Amino acid sequence: MYIDTHTHLHHRRFDKDRKQVLEQMEAVGIQAFLEVAMDLESNAVMREKLREAPIQVRFTAGVHPGAVEKLPEKPDEVLQQIAAYLKDENTVAVGEVGLDYCRADQTEIQALQRVWFHRFIELAKTEKLPLVLHIRDAHEDALQILREHGSEHRGVVHCFQGSWAEAEQYLKLGLYIGLGGLITREDKELEAVARKLPPERILLETDSPYVTPKPKKGRNTPANIPEIAERLADIRKTSVEEIIMVTAENAKRLFGM
Ligand SMILES: [Zn+2]
Repeated sequence: MYIDTHTHLHHRRFDKDRKQVLEQMEAVGIQAFLEVAMDLESNAVMREKLREAPIQVRFTAGVHPGAVEKLPEKPDEVLQQIAAYLKDENTVAVGEVGLDYCRADQTEIQALQRVWFHRFIELAKTEKLPLVLHIRDAHEDALQILREHGSEHRGVVHCFQGSWAEAEQYLKLGLYIGLGGLITREDKELEAVARKLPPERILLETDSPYVTPKPKKGRNTPANIPEIAERLADIRKTSVEEIIMVTAENAKRLFGM
């Protein structure tokens, strides 16, 4: 059975047919999924919209790096709000948090992202929870900041996009690597990463409604996870069954799902 370790099913693109999407997930053999917060408001919205999911849902709490500039002035109040969600037994990680320089070219915004990244890493340590990391075009800074907080971390670099040298640095820090639709897009560098990763550090994810696997188009849904598993099995010259089993075990180990 699959575990989709990164979804945004609270997104309004699922408002019309969320129930059917959840039923399709069950039909393709997804046993559990991790619903990931984006902006501050989404932390409440997703818990409300997925209250009656027919399969196991676990949540993160956090703020996406692309949304930190809209946060209210008082960081302590934001952190208290997030910390309150983390007390819930269904909340299993801090995320998604990190750095996204791809959509923030101004140096002040990048600096603000780094400030919040430090805060969320500290929060995860205090609460003894893993991190769901979103790192885009910022591996050097992200790795440096993580190292400032210690040589051992728990968490995943979701939707990993980078070189093997960068992936290796995250592995050394104890982190997992999340693979999704990007591995279907003929990116040779990423395929090399997917081939070399130790099996016990790979997580499967769809990042729905984003990152639709090729050749599908439009909104991504978790029911596309078999395409990702098949592509990964192909790249790693192993069976789909092996990929499903190992990645589900990894998700259970990291998030206690
Ligand atoms: Zn995401």
